[in-house]
Amino acid sequence: MTGTLECKACHSGRISVFHEQDNVPVNSCILLNTREEARQFPVGRIALGFCSDCGFIANTAFDPGLIEYSARYEETQGFSSTFNRFHRALAQNLIDRYGLYGKRVLEIGCGKGEFLLLLSELGGNEGIGFDPGYDEQRMQSDAAKRLTFIKDFYGEAYSDVKADLVCCKMTLEHIHNIADFLAMVRRSIGDAANTAVFFQIPEATRILRDCAFEDIYYEHCSYFTPGSLARAFRRAGFQVLNLDTAYDGQYLMIDAKPATGAMDAPLPSENDLEMLSQYVSEFPARYQARIAEWCETLEASHSAGERVVLWGSGSKAVSFLKAVDSNHRVEYVVDINPYRQGHFMPVTAQEIVNPDFLTDYRPDVVIVMNPIYSDEILSDLTARGITPRILTL
Ligand SMILES: [Zn+2]
Repeated sequence: MTGTLECKACHSGRISVFHEQDNVPVNSCILLNTREEARQFPVGRIALGFCSDCGFIANTAFDPGLIEYSARYEETQGFSSTFNRFHRALAQNLIDRYGLYGKRVLEIGCGKGEFLLLLSELGGNEGIGFDPGYDEQRMQSDAAKRLTFIKDFYGEAYSDVKADLVCCKMTLEHIHNIADFLAMVRRSIGDAANTAVFFQIPEATRILRDCAFEDIYYEHCSYFTPGSLARAFRRAGFQVLNLDTAYDGQYLMIDAKPATGAMDAPLPSENDLEMLSQYVSEFPARYQARIAEWCETLEASHSAGERVVLWGSGSKAVSFLKAVDSNHRVEYVVDINPYRQGHFMPVTAQEIVNPDFLTDYRPDVVIVMNPIYSDEILSDLTARGITPRILTL
């Protein structure tokens, strides 16, 4: 790549690359039917750049043409009781905050439609959801009568769809041209000044601070902190009402509304540029150290003749295996989502198995990909009479 890199959030040329990875699987959640298909899965390059003007972090080597969002994209967390409790509380909270009873909600990137369904069930709301990976076979509820799903990316063509709440969860991080996208959403809302806007994305301060390398993957081309997210929203013409984190600090959430007059003063949590540049400068050394530590752990288990499995086959597992298991010490990956079982991990090609498999396999070590599910996983293992060592990321 030549010339100056441009920040896709603020258009400055002050973005510099601080972290690079090659041969990264380009999708994390695509269902792959055979080990061979998994081994041949396309790879791309990650070159994370940090914008010293706005704090936005992006994969500057991202090629949107490599990514597939389709019916074989299986990302739902809806089989976890921990996640479902969180999701339900989040929906109720939004309903209470914005008086969403008998109102209309537009969701950008609705996945399998679970969140719209909650908003419909809990508040009697109508909803319209956009997602190319939506699957109508899996939507079974009376409240679904109030919902419409469009298997497409949301865009300017749908600006006639008006709503009391525009929500967008775990989607903005997949979008490359952030400034263009947020400006499009703002234009689509037009002069409907009372539209509430809610976005949820991964929280990148934690990724940098804790060196959470498992949370860096190809599909996520854009990474935000409270400050950079708020700045991107203001630039697009939104008033920022609130910034918050949830799910053990893994999610960042923003409440906004269309700005009609002068902008409010920034919130205190937006003042994060100095801290971020510190974390960014420390990241490369800490990344090397964390990778080395996990490689040693896996090699030690292998030397001791231990059987090691991962629990959780989503994006974190894809990153983890690619980064630390080049010697293929992990044989299987467990997932409670039946739609993922029997498929294979991209590139590293481990089979994804049902937890029932462990009853015979008797793993010595289970590496939990997301510590928030540790209790849920531990009770599952205990109920099966399996007592492996549990390691968490
Ligand atoms: Zn920027």
